[in-house]
Amino acid sequence: MNERPHGAGATTRLHGALRHGSRILALVLALLPPLLYFSTARSTIEAEIGLEARFIASTVADIAEANPTHWTFEAPRIAFALSRVVDAHTLESRLVLGPTGEVLATLGGTPPWPILRIEDEITAHGVRAGSVVIVKSMTEILDRSAVIGVLSALLVGLVYMLLGHVPQRLLDAAMRQLTHLATHDALTGLPNRGVFMDRLDLALATMRREGTDAVALFCLDLDRFKAVNDTLGHAMGDELLRQVAARLRAELRDTDTVVRLGGDEFAIIQPRLNHPHSADNLAQRLIDVLEAPFDLGGQHVHVGVSIGIAMAKGRGHPEAEVLLSDADTALHAAKRDGRGTFRFFADEMNVALRERRSTEADLRLALDRGEFELFFQPQVNLGTGAVTGFEALLRWHHPARGFVTPDTFIPLAEELGLLPQIGAWVLREACTKAVRWPGMNIAVNVSAHQIHAGGFETLVARALAATGLPAERLEIEITEGVLLTQTEATIGTLEQIRALGVSIAMDDFGTGYSSLGYLQRFRFDKLKIDRSFIANLATDRSAAAIVDAVLGITRALGVRANAEGVETAEQARMLSERGCHEAQGWLFGRPVPAERIDALLAARTAAAAE
Ligand code: C2E
Ligand code: MG
Ligand code: MG
Repeated sequence: MNERPHGAGATTRLHGALRHGSRILALVLALLPPLLYFSTARSTIEAEIGLEARFIASTVADIAEANPTHWTFEAPRIAFALSRVVDAHTLESRLVLGPTGEVLATLGGTPPWPILRIEDEITAHGVRAGSVVIVKSMTEILDRSAVIGVLSALLVGLVYMLLGHVPQRLLDAAMRQLTHLATHDALTGLPNRGVFMDRLDLALATMRREGTDAVALFCLDLDRFKAVNDTLGHAMGDELLRQVAARLRAELRDTDTVVRLGGDEFAIIQPRLNHPHSADNLAQRLIDVLEAPFDLGGQHVHVGVSIGIAMAKGRGHPEAEVLLSDADTALHAAKRDGRGTFRFFADEMNVALRERRSTEADLRLALDRGEFELFFQPQVNLGTGAVTGFEALLRWHHPARGFVTPDTFIPLAEELGLLPQIGAWVLREACTKAVRWPGMNIAVNVSAHQIHAGGFETLVARALAATGLPAERLEIEITEGVLLTQTEATIGTLEQIRALGVSIAMDDFGTGYSSLGYLQRFRFDKLKIDRSFIANLATDRSAAAIVDAVLGITRALGVRANAEGVETAEQARMLSERGCHEAQGWLFGRPVPAERIDALLAARTAAAAE
């Protein structure tokens, strides 16, 4: 991949600043010794001449006190007093001034600039009688400072030149690392979202300028990442993401960009697309490489990926943000269409998306608005033809769209996190209705989410206690998917539910992951043979063989069997011949509202009484 680090400008600026900074530092280091020398030397001199001035002042004060009236005529003695202290230096002059500032005596010439001037008062008989002034030139220490300055500059310069490139190398390495961290995903080493948007902008700008090729944007989402994370732990989840990143990188060209947008979402920019099928081809290749099993600590894991693609072509193409959101919409469509596929964004998807949003909003309110209702479908004993119980099937009466089937809204409710409330309502409602139907069993569908959320056994116990339904009459239907993840915990929950006296049925048997191992680890009370096998029972030999096999398993395990979706008398006969105990389907009754069951049972009781 072309690594043009994101924010390269900022890095160079920072580099420049640091290089500039180190020059300033060197300058400061070079200036420090002469400045230090100058200031210490100056204060030493100041202290010295201050002391001398005081000494001269007191000597002169003695003279003045000895000659209270004429001391100003004592100039020769004063001059002597001056010279007695020290021989005047050429760079120094000493003066004794009278009360009005007139010069009484002087020693030395005019010292060259710059000078230091100290003045001390002469007091005789408690009054100011004049002053002593010492003026000293600073040229000497200035010269020495200059010499020191030159020397230290030479020294620092030498050190800077010798070491300068070493810290620069370290600095460069640190900067490179910093830039990498700021622009890459730490887990996979792929560039991050910031880089991604930059590159997308760049690709679009290039396309606009040249006005030719197209740019394809891919949004990828792993299909079963969550299951891996939940079952094998986060460390394996991380490892999986790293392996996915490596496979993606291997599959792409240098000019393509792949990033991790977060979680198990990746995105790819394919710029300069000149063949109309390049995007399809790449998408299919990516699906294929991620379909192959991953080795996670010795375990082979199948993950799979769904891909949404948005294309930018010509001049009227959308901006980067819009393109990303389009690709995301297409990704959702791919997920809905069964995962492991790719979809191109189409404008209709936005319409579908809007519809979905409005359905979501409605679904959130459905429970409070009382739009849910349970329908009940009879389950019959194939031998006697007697109704043994009912399966509760959820219906949503949408105010505008009318009746909505559970297959469409239950996955949505699951996604929106509404299933716990809805599921709890279903359980309570089914028990409430079933209490009215003595001797009848009631089967309630429960999704994986509800079981995995925890505390489901408590919910069941509460529903039984609150409604007074005998536990033996309640049956929980789960699909094989429930056992796919968190298997140990799930089996624990199921066992707790069964300990209450509730039976557990496996729904849609034969359509899921069908690992017969589950049957060994948890003994279900009932297996419900999926209706797809029943539908083809009369016409398809292999369907009949599967039904036979399933019935064989139930006999071997001592488990009851229920055949779903029995629509014809022939199907019922064939099942009965094969030893199936129980069936359910339109032949015996469609799912109907509770009142119809009330009426049905009332009629039956009346018939029995006659
Ligand atoms: P399921 O549990 O396998 O339910 C059987 C489905 O087959 C029902 O569809 C039922 O109406 C349909 N069916 C019954 N007999 C026949 C037949 O003879 N021919 C045909 N073609 N179909 C028949 P429905 O009511 O649309 O429910 C679909 C699925 O939604 C259910 O499949 C179940 O998995 C789920 N579901 C329904 N109610 C609930 C619920 O309260 N909670 C949960 N978690 N899932 C539910
Ligand atoms: Mg069911
Ligand atoms: Mg079923």
